[in-house]
Amino acid sequence: MANFQAYLKDVKSQIKETDVPALSKDRDGAVVIDVREQDEYVQGYIPGARWIPRGFLESRIEDAVPDKSTPVILYCAGGTRSALSARALGELGYTNVKSLAGGFTAWKRGGHPFDLPIVLDKEQQIRYSRHTMLPEVGEEGQIKLLKSKVLLLGAGGLGAPSSVYLAAAGVGTLGMVDDDVVDLSNLQRQIIHAQDRIGMPKVESAKKTLAGLNPDVKVIPHKMRLVAENILPLLAEYDLVVDGADNFPTRYLLNDAALKLGKPVVHASIYRFEGQVTAFIPGKGPCYRCLYPSPPPPDMAPSCQEAGVLGVLPGIIGSIQANEAIKILLGIGQTLAGRLLMFDALRTKFRELKLRRDPACPTCGEGVRPENIELIDYEQFCAVG
Ligand SMILES: [Zn+2]
Repeated sequence: MANFQAYLKDVKSQIKETDVPALSKDRDGAVVIDVREQDEYVQGYIPGARWIPRGFLESRIEDAVPDKSTPVILYCAGGTRSALSARALGELGYTNVKSLAGGFTAWKRGGHPFDLPIVLDKEQQIRYSRHTMLPEVGEEGQIKLLKSKVLLLGAGGLGAPSSVYLAAAGVGTLGMVDDDVVDLSNLQRQIIHAQDRIGMPKVESAKKTLAGLNPDVKVIPHKMRLVAENILPLLAEYDLVVDGADNFPTRYLLNDAALKLGKPVVHASIYRFEGQVTAFIPGKGPCYRCLYPSPPPPDMAPSCQEAGVLGVLPGIIGSIQANEAIKILLGIGQTLAGRLLMFDALRTKFRELKLRRDPACPTCGEGVRPENIELIDYEQFCAVG
């Protein structure tokens, strides 16, 4: 029976190796994967490398590197585990795999720079364990969420469930824009607020609820109304916008500003028993003006006081917004870009409409340059939120 040394020699004869001096050339176009355990990885890793511990390599490699002809360079601490890993990937059909001889030890000894990863602390490992056990999220995805910044327009019906789920999911920074105060008539649906906060600014009430749920989340209240003059510097601070705005002027202003800055917007609206939700991702599908090129005349819009809404409806639609936002931040799944999802609460039915980009759209059509989009403050009138 062969001993380990003989076995390793045999494995190494079947795989290709590279070494530290050759790495800078070899890694061109290659995916570098660190296969060490977490306690080793947290001490530092080769910049640009992805981390897939040896035990998960076979099960996760196809998500990380779908094209089996992509060059892959594996490393561990000294070159043994990466050699065994290289053989495993070869057996899975990967055709261009190399193991780094000498591993991270040789890299460090050569005086090369290394990065220190951000890792979840013990409490975070427990808090987000149901996320990290999903291979589509993992620790890497959770850290991405913790570093993400989402701006929520409106701390009302839609903003309530979406912000609560985003905070629970560990989206690290949540900005909330709203200039209203909590009213008794809000509590039928705006579950982020409470009876004892009537009269309190909604952004303050929301902050209290979100901070109580997850101390990892930094909540930034913006008690203001968005106008052409203040929207750009605010949006620039965030990665994505969840739009729960209750008025048409804000929707147009947000659309135009988001296109200017290339920020994705998860848009939703609700009316009586019906809700709709979609994602506007610059460069991937239509924008709000592709659907509605300009606002309806103010006297055609329903008045805020007259239009009712079933209390649970924004809960359903706002939760879908949170789901979309998380997927976009993680880069997983299929987003609602180019699709309008409509929900009828009375019949409990979802329908989907295909949305196409309008080549003549005034803000994202052919030949429109984002920097030339002009921001317009339309006359204020109400939609339903
Ligand atoms: Zn458009």
